[in-house]
Amino acid sequence: MKKRPFGQNFLKDTSIAEEIVRLAQISPEETILEIGPGKGILTQYLLDSPNPLTALEIDGKLCDELRQKFNGKDHFRLIEADATKFDYGCVGPKFKVVSNLPYYAATHIVKRLIDFRAHVIDMTVMMQKEVVDRLVARPGQKEYGSLTVFIQFHCQVERLLEIDKTAFSPPPKIDSSLVKLTPLTSPQVQVNDQKTFFKVVNAAFLHKRKMLKNNLKDWQDQFQLESDPVHLAGIDLSRRGETLSLEDFATLSNFIHTHHD
Ligand code: SAM
Repeated sequence: MKKRPFGQNFLKDTSIAEEIVRLAQISPEETILEIGPGKGILTQYLLDSPNPLTALEIDGKLCDELRQKFNGKDHFRLIEADATKFDYGCVGPKFKVVSNLPYYAATHIVKRLIDFRAHVIDMTVMMQKEVVDRLVARPGQKEYGSLTVFIQFHCQVERLLEIDKTAFSPPPKIDSSLVKLTPLTSPQVQVNDQKTFFKVVNAAFLHKRKMLKNNLKDWQDQFQLESDPVHLAGIDLSRRGETLSLEDFATLSNFIHTHHD
């Protein structure tokens, strides 16, 4: 089988493309960013409105095709670039993202866009179903992990649509989901030091089956040993990381940050 670089599974169902653009709820004059336009199935519907559209595509051959196809649309700007490294500040002060993301780089691109969250109104993006399961997970579910906490810390997350693999050509091995991520003006929970917060979160999920008292050994000098089971900031350390809410992680990390020497 021919090897496809860059996660190129093209959507072939135009009714799904139209639905994605509708669910993006684009207001007049908003600038749109599309990542990975491919053969332009979403692009053509995005260009139906006069909103300025910037599209980033890594594949030079597809860029040539897109230039030909949308030649003369002066609200369309195509940039041949790698979305995992792109400086999104140059798209505009505020923009909406609409994309069928390449699977291999989807979380990487979303994390990069979160770095530029001051510019991002929201992102309506298609990703692997399994990844979206992780983005929307609640404490106690098996999909809940450090990616969940990272995304929910920074964004409001809403699952919008399920898309079967047969809607693509060639069909990928797994189904996709459409999700809307809206960066929050301030994080979901009050945290004194974000570096400490994410250090604690990543440590708590390092060995998912282990209890917190094993995963959080770096901070064992702060453990409250007089209680049984052992606690830290009032949190029972016989629990597993996957049971902690964002508030619990904030409580732990604020305590650790305040009490470290
Ligand atoms: N939007 C089209 C559609 O729905 O049919 C194509 C989607 S396809 C899943 C992903 C697209 O992203 C491809 O066109 C691919 O060439 C492009 N792509 C892959 N990696 C990229 C990267 N790092 N930066 C920019 N575009 C990329």
